[in-house]
Amino acid sequence: MSVVGIDLGFQSCYVAVARAGGIETVANEYSDRTCISFGPKNRSIGAAAKSQVISNAKNTVQSFKRFHGRAFSDPFVQAEKASLAYELVQLPTGSTGIKAMYMEEERNFTIEQVTGMLLTKLKETAENALKKPVVDCVVSVPCFYTDAERRSVMDATQIAGLNCLRLINETTAVALAYGIYKQDLPALEEKPRNVVFVDMGHSAYQVSVCAFNKGKLKVLATAFDTTLGGRKFDEVLVEYFCEEFGKKYKLDIKSKIRALLRLYQECERLKKLMSANASDLPMNIECFMNDIDVSGTMNRGKFLEMCEGLLARVEPPLRSVLEQAKLKKEDIYAVEIVGGTTRIPAVKEKISKFFGKEVSTTLNADEAVARGCALQCAILSPAFKVREFSITDLIPYPISLRWNSPAEEGLSDCEVFPKNHAAPFSKVLTFYRKEPFTLEAYYSSPKELPYPDPAIAHFLVQKVTPQTDGSSSKVKVKVRVNIHGIFSVSSASLVEVHKSDENEEPMETDQHAKEEEVTDSLLPKMQVDEEQQKTCQADSKDKKVDQPPQAKKAKVKTTTVDLPIENQLVWQIGKDMLNLFIENEGKMIMQDKLEKERNDAKNAVEEYVYEMRDKLCGVYEKFVSEDVSTALEDTEIWLYEDGEDQPKQIYIDKLAELKTLGQPIQARFQESEERPKAFEDLGKQI
Ligand code: ATP
Ligand code: MG
Repeated sequence: MSVVGIDLGFQSCYVAVARAGGIETVANEYSDRTCISFGPKNRSIGAAAKSQVISNAKNTVQSFKRFHGRAFSDPFVQAEKASLAYELVQLPTGSTGIKAMYMEEERNFTIEQVTGMLLTKLKETAENALKKPVVDCVVSVPCFYTDAERRSVMDATQIAGLNCLRLINETTAVALAYGIYKQDLPALEEKPRNVVFVDMGHSAYQVSVCAFNKGKLKVLATAFDTTLGGRKFDEVLVEYFCEEFGKKYKLDIKSKIRALLRLYQECERLKKLMSANASDLPMNIECFMNDIDVSGTMNRGKFLEMCEGLLARVEPPLRSVLEQAKLKKEDIYAVEIVGGTTRIPAVKEKISKFFGKEVSTTLNADEAVARGCALQCAILSPAFKVREFSITDLIPYPISLRWNSPAEEGLSDCEVFPKNHAAPFSKVLTFYRKEPFTLEAYYSSPKELPYPDPAIAHFLVQKVTPQTDGSSSKVKVKVRVNIHGIFSVSSASLVEVHKSDENEEPMETDQHAKEEEVTDSLLPKMQVDEEQQKTCQADSKDKKVDQPPQAKKAKVKTTTVDLPIENQLVWQIGKDMLNLFIENEGKMIMQDKLEKERNDAKNAVEEYVYEMRDKLCGVYEKFVSEDVSTALEDTEIWLYEDGEDQPKQIYIDKLAELKTLGQPIQARFQESEERPKAFEDLGKQI
């Protein structure tokens, strides 16, 4: 069993693994870009793809993290479309697809496939570090992701052949990385230590406040600005220079995507420089567009002026978490900041000014999320010994159920999980029905949802039948927000009542401590009255609304029958489709492998040519009798012409052919090297 944590960032990904020495971040070149480049023979993924952002712009895919679970018609997708070098398409399911030329064919990939490709690479990175196959892992997602987005990421992990033990919220992973090593957390009975975590990355800004006691953390509240991140700051600079260079050099930069991409890269570089340097900085790009060199300047003061609007967005989420958690600034023990954009001094200042204290940077700003993921994986792994640490996360948006209520002749609804309710969590609802019925789950506060569709799913509870006497059956339905933060109607059962003379214990009881009952009834006596309605909204672990009174009194025997549930999820890849994607990913992995082997075979020929040529003029000089040089020269020319793009076997044969020529020379050389020693040995024998 592997212990691996993966931070799927908008711009960079990090992999952390547990080894004997503890948790280590292991990604190649320490992080990998969230980038995939499609070519005529293979794909490049991560850092290798990043170098092709400009040279292979149309087929190099980046900035796709936030398309998960979104329809092509989604306003967010539509707004992003214009600034991408590659093309987005509407897939037959209505979801967002990515178009690219791969293997000289136009292909449409789903977002799950693309993230799956990235995960394939990260899986390999972990495997290389651990020197064993990796399957189990924990992957992070923004704390504001809705169910559709979470399910989409889960599908991506499956495409990559990973078994995701938990999708953990990025801010919660950071909180775990903070808390697990702290030796001085307050005891369980003491007042908890409240810590605020701030993560501003490339695409989003997330804040959480957590309460820590020895061995546990509870997320009290989260708040976010889902579009405030480093790229917004880059955009400010890009807009400025587009106008400046446009006027100065008469260039329409936005009309040429390659120039625009280069400008983005340069502006990001400049932005980072300004974090460390307040003086005037040059902005020079050679051969920028139409062979023109451009140059300008920028300084921190001017940049901050232009970013005033963005900086004003730092405070509201900070205020919001305190309000939600009903805490005052004085109640906050520390403010831990992570994410690349918190390196902008003005961002840091805004945060520390709001709390009236210095922010802490005790966590590694880049690696904290991945490390938290690996720690969570270690906790979940039976094979790995790690300090016990319990995490209670929360549900960021209220979730309600709607159903057709024959008693009330219309739709009834009930908020099953209020905002900030603890998660994971299960509740049991009781219905009285004679026939199958549908429960419609939705986010009941669409205004605060950073997603256009409040629908979660329809759950059809099947095979419901009346009791033998024709009355309604009691149906117990378990609703759950699972460890990944995904809602479902996880099970349903029908209670069959059998009249009995024996004095038996009535009804089965539910064993789950964290459950509470919500009752909706068909029977006039059992109609949802105000008190029960309250129960429906109560956030209580212990309260357990009891069975209907008449059921308690009756001396009856009951049996429960599990009922099948049909899910109609919003934006979920079907099983067949998922299997097809898994198969396709396998084919692409194989293709990449073959292409790598082919390239290795070609490189081996090239290396042999260079090595032999060097030696022919050096150590082998005295031993050359046949003409090898011509063959080497011919091969070198061949490698650049006909031999540039040949199957692997051709290179293997070519190398063998050259070696046949080189072998006698090498043998004569070796013999001469060993001759003195042989004489010596002979001398000894004599
Ligand atoms: P997200 O969390 O939104 O998914 P991410 O995890 O990929 O994205 P990070 O790696 O945390 O994002 O941060 C990357 C951002 O931080 C980029 O916009 C980058 O330009 C910015 N950044 C990194 N270093 C600095 C710096 N020294 N000054 C300013 N910005 C910086
Ligand atoms: Mg991040």
